[in-house]
Amino acid sequence: MTKTLFPVPAPALLPVTGTDAMFPVTRIFCVGRNYAEHAREMGSEVDREAPFYFTKSPAHLTQSGATVPYPPGTSDFHHEMEFVVALGAPAFRVPVEKAMEAVFGYAAGLDMTRRDLQAASKEKRRSWDTGKDFENAAVIGAITPKAAFGEPGPQAITLKVGERLAQSSHLSDMVWSVAEIIAHLSTLYHLTPGDLIMTGTPAGVGPVVAGDRLRGEIEGLAAVELSIA
Ligand code: MN
Repeated sequence: MTKTLFPVPAPALLPVTGTDAMFPVTRIFCVGRNYAEHAREMGSEVDREAPFYFTKSPAHLTQSGATVPYPPGTSDFHHEMEFVVALGAPAFRVPVEKAMEAVFGYAAGLDMTRRDLQAASKEKRRSWDTGKDFENAAVIGAITPKAAFGEPGPQAITLKVGERLAQSSHLSDMVWSVAEIIAHLSTLYHLTPGDLIMTGTPAGVGPVVAGDRLRGEIEGLAAVELSIA
């Protein structure tokens, strides 16, 4: 057995519906501005040339149902409800027509964001890391295998904060389709089984406060839930 200087951190794992085998998470890619209405509410436009990405560390992944503390360094902690694609096969420079072959399944997720830090980063043309990649910043529900879900498109995607409906859209409102995202991302990375792609949020993002309970739903998938302590 390999000796290590301190305990090896537990791997990032997600449950899969219909099996007791867990999905081991390798990387978490996130798509920015993939719904036109959300891009507008952020004072931007969708880049029609190509999707763009940022990443979150798998160490910052939290399973659905958790209660997490309000994070440090922010007074504007936001929810972003997202459709998450889980890859189960390698993909490198795959054409759009073949891209879906790499998909293992789908999940509902929350791209939790320290909006004030992200806004300051944008203003200074610095990286988004402190706004996007911090403890419990990726909250993801159980993965449903793709055959049980079908083709992404007409399904509703919603987020409630308490009883208030904060975000509501359909997967067909995504600017870049799942196949287009995988094909494009596979020109930049050797995608591997275990990679997750958070595909962007619809309009209606907003702040959460201590005591809030979030519930995100995508038709056909397990819900994602989060409580703020
Ligand atoms: Mn997002």
